[in-house]
Order: sequence, then C-alpha cells, then structure tokens
Amino acid sequence: MEKKLMETFQKLYGGEGEIKTFFSPGRVNLIGEHTDYNGGHVFPCALTLGTYGIARKREDRKLRFYSANFEKLGVIETSLDDLVPSKAAQWTNYPKGVIWAFEKKGYSIPQGMDVLIYGTIPNGSGLSSSASLEVLIGVMLKELFNIEISMQDIALIGQYSENNYNGCNCGIMDQFAVAMGKKDCAVFLDTNTLQYEYASVKLDDAKIVITNSKVKHSLVDSAYNDRRRESEEALHDLQKVVDIKTLGDLTEEEFEAHKDAIKDEICKKRAKHAVYENQRTIRAVKALKENDIAEFGRLMNQSHISLRDDYEVSCEEIDVLVDLAWKIDGVIGSRITGGGFGGCTVSIVKNDAVDTFIDQVGAGYKEKTGREAEFYVVEIGDGARVL
Ligand code: ADP
Ligand code: MG
Repeated sequence: MEKKLMETFQKLYGGEGEIKTFFSPGRVNLIGEHTDYNGGHVFPCALTLGTYGIARKREDRKLRFYSANFEKLGVIETSLDDLVPSKAAQWTNYPKGVIWAFEKKGYSIPQGMDVLIYGTIPNGSGLSSSASLEVLIGVMLKELFNIEISMQDIALIGQYSENNYNGCNCGIMDQFAVAMGKKDCAVFLDTNTLQYEYASVKLDDAKIVITNSKVKHSLVDSAYNDRRRESEEALHDLQKVVDIKTLGDLTEEEFEAHKDAIKDEICKKRAKHAVYENQRTIRAVKALKENDIAEFGRLMNQSHISLRDDYEVSCEEIDVLVDLAWKIDGVIGSRITGGGFGGCTVSIVKNDAVDTFIDQVGAGYKEKTGREAEFYVVEIGDGARVL
C-alpha cells in the first residue's frame, strides 16, 4: 500500500526532497453516544481502517493536495495565504482548516507542502473519516515543521478546526479517539475533564462487526444542532434547582428527583438519554474490566433503545439492522454508533456466528429496505502516527 502511494506521489509531484508517510485511524464508539457535548463519558476505539498520508515540505508557500478517494478532482492547489473556507476547496477544507487552526493557536507553518491522501474509511458513515483526516494533517505538520505539540492538543486543534473552519459543531470524542487510540484498547474518556483511561477490549471468542447501512439522511446536521440545543435547554432548567455544570454530573437518581424542572417534554427525554447513557457507559467499562461481556452487550442494547426512543437519532434502516442483529444467536450486543440518521451499527458477535450474522443481517436488510449493507469485521488499532 505505502509503496503504491509513494509511486503515485512521485507521478503527481515529481521532484526531490524527503517524503514522509503517516497513518491516522478511523474510530468506532462502543458506547456513550451523544454524551461528549453533555459532559459525559465516551468509550471509542481506533480502528485499523484509516487514512494514509504522504507529504513533503515545499520551499514556497504553495499547498498541493490530492486524494486518491477523490481522483476526479485531481490536484487541488492553494496557498498558506488562502486559508479561508470555500465550496471550491472541496475536501481540502479539512486540511486547510487544520493548518489555519495551528496558526490560530500560535504554531507557525512557514512553508507549504505537497500532500497525497488515501483513506480506507467509508466517508460520511459515522466512522469519522473527517477526524481521521484532521488528526493526520496535525501529525504531518508536527513532523514536517518540528512542532512541539502533544497528541491531545492535536486532537483539540482538529476539533477546533472542524467547529470553526468546517462549521460542524462536533464534540471532542472523534479527534481524541483517533489521536490517542491504542491497539486492542478502547479509550474511556471523561469529556468534562479530558481525563482518560485505556481499557483493554479482550473479546477472546468474539469480534467487533460494523454494519454500514449506506444511508445518510439529510437531517443529520440540523438534527445534531437541535439535539445540542435541546440538551442545553434541559441543563439550563435543571440548573435552577440543582448545582451542576453539565448533564454528565447527574446520576439517574438525581435526574429522576429533579427532572420536573425541565419544562419541555422533548428536552426532558433528551436529558434523560444524556444522563442514563453516561451512567451506562461507566457501568459498561466496569463490566468489561470484570470480563462480563454479556453485561457489556446488554448495556449496548439499552443504549440503542435510548438513542431510538429518547434521543431520537436513529432511523428506520438502522433499526432494521439492529433488530435483525438482536435475533441472531451469538450476538452479544448491537447498537447504532456515531451521530445517527443513518451511518453504521456496531455489534459484538461471537466468532462462530460472524458468517451467519453477515448472511442474515445482509439478506434481511435487503428484503426489508431494498438496500445492500456493507460489513467490516474490524480490529482495534493504534492512534495517528508517523509510519
Ligand atoms: P465521517 O466523518 O462520518 O466519515 P464527514 O461528513 O464528517 O463524515 O466527513 C467526510 C468528509 O471528510 C468527506 O466528504 C471529505 O470531505 C473528507 N474526507 C474524509 N476522508 C477523506 C479522504 N480519504 N480524502 C479526501 N477527503 C476525505
Ligand atoms: Mg465527521
């Protein structure tokens, strides 16, 4: 793979000078969904699917970008003096945003670069190809320009650029998982404090299977912003009766005791999800540490029900996938993952049931929706790095 990318790089850009290779993973969140902007916990892991990058410093201020995933667009040329988001910049708004954010945070990028990108993550499916690309560029800038910066700060810069350059109001989970991921571990992150802990994911006789519904409803961005607003409104109402900074500060019991302070019924449901999902995530990590995979799976299933009924970010296609999965012997847990309204589900499936899972969920999905699902039996890999 790397050799082929090197050849393409030479063909595109020619020239001399040291060329460096980078990799940044995608991520899947095992549990703790829509909690990262509510001050709760998340539990994502980095994948071995991800984004490769090859780059070389230039002597001038030009930036040249090429993605093998967007071949038709060819080389997109711009410069360090043109770091303004635009439609014409297409996907290069992500790398440009990261460069912009580095400069904004006081790290100087003195020279341009030639960059080749190739990703193995399906774009727009909730496995965070955008965060993968952002953190990749962060590692690239760190390495090429000898910048002293921690992986955690690269994650924060990635989020900052996605929020302020790309206009997506995402939380910190994605960039953090991509930057800080560790082989065979998931990252138990408290999004309130950014304290984190690695928990080993030992699934001796089971695998993580991601199912891509291949749908992405147009609701996704507007609904995301609605959910954030509804959660904030609920928090605001609760703060009149209880001293909390975020919904993640509440236990289930405290929520039940104070929930009537939330005036709007919809906002009440959103807050219920945020509180219960956070507590579920804490419990799920405990179960995993105690090797109680069955309990971990039950909590994943409850997470799905809460996202479907209280947070209302699922959709018909995803519910079909999860319902089909739940019927199969050997499925330990299955839920929607990522922002919602399409994208992927994540399931934990016993090794000897993986083939049946793919056959039956695939066939059932086709029958009920007319669509072809895609399956990835994934491994948990390391975070973004120089290769
Ligand atoms: P997700 O992060 O869930 O995959 P997003 O819509 O947030 O979905 O990000 C997808 C976008 O990120 C793509 O449309 C593209 O602009 C950019 N992107 C991701 N991977 C690549 C890649 N390999 N090459 C070029 N652009 C990419
Ligand atoms: Mg994204």
